[in-house]
Amino acid sequence: MRDTGSAGGQSRQGRWALGAALLLACAGEPAAPPPAAPTSPVVESNHPDVVLITIDTLRADRVGAYGDPLAATPQLDALARRSLLFREAHAVAPLTLPSHATLLTGRAPSTHGLRDNGAVPLGDQVPTLAAALKGGGYQTGAFVSAWVLDAAWGLDRGFDVYRSPFHPEEVARAGHAGELELPAAEVVNAAVAWWEAAGRAPSPGVPAAPRFLWVHLFEPHAPWPSAPGDPYRADVSRADARLERLLRAVGPDAAVLLTADHGEGLWSEGERHHGLLLGRAITRVPMLLRPPGGISGPPVAPPPRPGLPTVGRPPGADAAMDLEPVPDAPTAAAVEELPVSGLDVAATLAGLAGVPFATEGLDLSPLLAGGPGADQTRAALRARPVVAETLYPLLHLGAAPLWMAQDDAHRLLSGVYDQGCAWVSDPGCATAADAPAALTAALAPHRAAPLPLPGQLDAATAARLSALGYLSAPPPPGAVSGEDPRQLVEALQQVAAAEAMVDASARAEALRALIAARPGLVDARLALSRAALEQGRLPEARRVLDELLGRWPDHMTALNNAAALAHLARDWEPALAWAGRMMALNPTDPRGYRLAVAVHVERDDTAAVRAVAGRGVEMAPDDPNLRYLLGIAEVQGGDPRAAIVHLQHARAVGTKATDVDLWLGLAAEKAGDIDAALRHYEAATRTMDGDLRPWGMAGVMLAKADRCREALPYLENVARRGGAAHPEVRAARERCAPKPAAP
Ligand SMILES: [Zn+2]
Repeated sequence: MRDTGSAGGQSRQGRWALGAALLLACAGEPAAPPPAAPTSPVVESNHPDVVLITIDTLRADRVGAYGDPLAATPQLDALARRSLLFREAHAVAPLTLPSHATLLTGRAPSTHGLRDNGAVPLGDQVPTLAAALKGGGYQTGAFVSAWVLDAAWGLDRGFDVYRSPFHPEEVARAGHAGELELPAAEVVNAAVAWWEAAGRAPSPGVPAAPRFLWVHLFEPHAPWPSAPGDPYRADVSRADARLERLLRAVGPDAAVLLTADHGEGLWSEGERHHGLLLGRAITRVPMLLRPPGGISGPPVAPPPRPGLPTVGRPPGADAAMDLEPVPDAPTAAAVEELPVSGLDVAATLAGLAGVPFATEGLDLSPLLAGGPGADQTRAALRARPVVAETLYPLLHLGAAPLWMAQDDAHRLLSGVYDQGCAWVSDPGCATAADAPAALTAALAPHRAAPLPLPGQLDAATAARLSALGYLSAPPPPGAVSGEDPRQLVEALQQVAAAEAMVDASARAEALRALIAARPGLVDARLALSRAALEQGRLPEARRVLDELLGRWPDHMTALNNAAALAHLARDWEPALAWAGRMMALNPTDPRGYRLAVAVHVERDDTAAVRAVAGRGVEMAPDDPNLRYLLGIAEVQGGDPRAAIVHLQHARAVGTKATDVDLWLGLAAEKAGDIDAALRHYEAATRTMDGDLRPWGMAGVMLAKADRCREALPYLENVARRGGAAHPEVRAARERCAPKPAAP
């Protein structure tokens, strides 16, 4: 058995079968909170604890403190009664990763470079708030709820702890990264555990270093619950309920900034969700700033203004949702009327922490104290319009991007055409009004930044693929139609309706028709590929992705899916090429390594598994799948003691593989520790129900060690269950069989 190097004498496929089946199947369990860092530099007591809370997809006018009479948001409303409420806070982008990257760097998307979800990671040259605070002596922890904010995208830089434990199998299966979320309760529990551990004195008489905590909750993001009542408000209320535990744990003395990464269309202007447009429903978000100790005194309620009308709900859509305009009527300890931006959050948190951090935004914390500092800040706010961009129309629909700028009176939407309005009296921008030139000027530097147009493959990958008959032509010119996104609302609704069709063949037909009319519909092509696969048409599913990659060679989701389908088709070379491209584009994204390792496993190339999984583990040390496969490769072709380390690590970070004990047993056996091996084989008999291998391997090992009395029950069990003919089992039984009496 050991001679062939295979576990339990299984065939090559059998040996790796569990590995291959579980290749994309490993879990992350909540990690134990780390102890407080005892080595932080001494920090003066004027560095308060600082907390950033982001609630994904939370529209300002669905919060009670902003005037919604139908909201059930008691925690947000109570926080507002101790906070400065920003009446006109605007996100910089209607997409989770670009917007959060701005919140955590103080740089606009055109500067930090993250302009879409799931494309490229944050560059090392972009300074992060977390790194600055850590450098200033803070302990730093981040707890995110969506894979779209996974550490692979680089927002983890500067955080001591960055918890984003998403199951790789779910990541591989999800059509959109945004579909992967953790419940708020789980995220808050982990955050509170970290907060409390980090707050303990590292040794008697030595105070704990101050803490910077970022918590991201995902509840208001679709999908919404199907419970009776308004589904969006129900999800907002669910997130609100979890704030109680979080805010109680951080206590009244921490500085708290709560905001959202973007709002939600809710059929305002015809967009159900977010990404395509930049209306006020999408960019206006809540922002509450509570200084340490909070602001006391009676709440203020400035005169209300008209709410945002809903103008684009198709007949019958979201009938349970109350879309009546909500008055813009805030109530809070203090209210700031001037527009502020997500761009200002990092500077404000650094200002509260007393740690220098240069950004493109404004430090809003002087507004809390009043006086000349507040006057200066207001003057700066008046001189600086807030801006937003969306490249989603370009990158997902092949249309033109859209831009927004707003000052204290006017708002400008600018794309293929300009559209200005006086938003104070006309929140839905129904009537055209000339916007001042300053708004156009504010957009100029962002528009001048290079757009991430369809990428070019690196020469080596291109040559490899064209040699295989892929990508015979360069990306066609005119991958961008130049249509204005405001003209695409109906097309987007049609795509959503097509994608919602249950019958795969009807869905594929509808998607094909839409793509024929608009070749730039990138997401529709991904959906068409999935529909073809559902129908069992693997070649067609692959062809659709090849066409897409011909237009957008660097599309990460298309690369991932193309590699996975090539693997499924046992077409190794393109699978390795696509996976290699993923690793080159984002070396911190574990998916490329997983896909390449999957191919090497199938090819039984242990050396390649060791090399690629080894590199993957360097980049993503807590990836349970890569740890597990590296452990198996080490058992088979390397160092059994290293195998034990990797397999134990895979288990500690929550691998879902059920045969870890089998491999640990084999590793211990190879390392010469028979008693440890026996314990693992024993454990494997329980986790691998119905599998004869742990029984057989335990029996054969014990027989070879001349421990026949212990070996026989294992061997007899294997024999009774049909394994008697296996040569090693037979040899072991003969070796241990009682000597027959002489006739
Ligand atoms: Zn988001």
